[in-house]
Amino acid sequence: MDNDTIGTNPKRAIVTGGTRGIGRAIVKELATGNFRNLLFSDIAFVYNSCDECAEQLIKEIDNPNVKVYSFKSDVSSFEQTQTTVDAIIKKIGGVDVLINNAGITKDNLLLRMNEKDFDDVIAANLKSVFNYTKAVIKPMIAQRYGRIINISSVVGLIGNAGQSNYSASKAGIIGFTKSMARELASRGITVNAVAPGFIQTDMTDKLTEEQVKRLIQNVPMARLGKPEDVAKVTAFLCSKDADYITGQVIAVDGGMTM
Ligand code: NAD
Repeated sequence: MDNDTIGTNPKRAIVTGGTRGIGRAIVKELATGNFRNLLFSDIAFVYNSCDECAEQLIKEIDNPNVKVYSFKSDVSSFEQTQTTVDAIIKKIGGVDVLINNAGITKDNLLLRMNEKDFDDVIAANLKSVFNYTKAVIKPMIAQRYGRIINISSVVGLIGNAGQSNYSASKAGIIGFTKSMARELASRGITVNAVAPGFIQTDMTDKLTEEQVKRLIQNVPMARLGKPEDVAKVTAFLCSKDADYITGQVIAVDGGMTM
């Protein structure tokens, strides 16, 4: 099958962190959105805690042409990732698209941040991207086709007081994305990052009203974004229309970083 034919065939995707917020919106967008030329036959999403949320999401997908599967696994573990990706590939027959979305925050000023808060965030946000990318590139190289989209953050571009661990992980994702884009471009695989600004999810629900008010002072569009705003750009990057885009970081941030 040549690259062009693969590009328009229904695809098989892995999405990490699928049960909530942005990941949930991405699973729904890929499964039921109708972006030009972009069809999925199978979507496997990975999550680490809420079994009911995983079941509920599968129930909500109303498209008989797409099969959606959930896999419970810790993305920060290299061993668990190998086993999980092997099981996913066995179930869905291969992988064309990887969305590295899972992430956590453990915010604190550096003076108060302990070693575990730093290590946990780097492991869940950055090492996970290494784990999943490493697990999928062999089959992607063999089929000479792949789309990898890594969910970074605007704080990986501009930093944020109280988030040195998180910003470092998100900036690390950007360096990793660009290096992978260079390594894999000749193999028919594109690798891009999406950098959301402040998006309304469980992650930002932790902020106080006062903090949100202060944050949106720096957003020209003067509001938080929606998970769907990020999901639609991610879907575009999976599509054939984005075939000549690689190594880019696309901010979805209401104009916050321009
Ligand atoms: P969320 O907390 O609502 O959801 C996170 C998801 O990741 C959940 O499904 C959870 O199960 C999964 N997850 C976390 N740790 C995991 C682990 N170790 N193993 C497996 N799964 C794990 O978060 P969100 O706001 O939807 O954020 C999604 C991504 O977008 C994250 O990478 C986050 O850093 C990034 N982001 C979010 C915002 C925002 O404002 N919400 C802004 C910029 C970037």
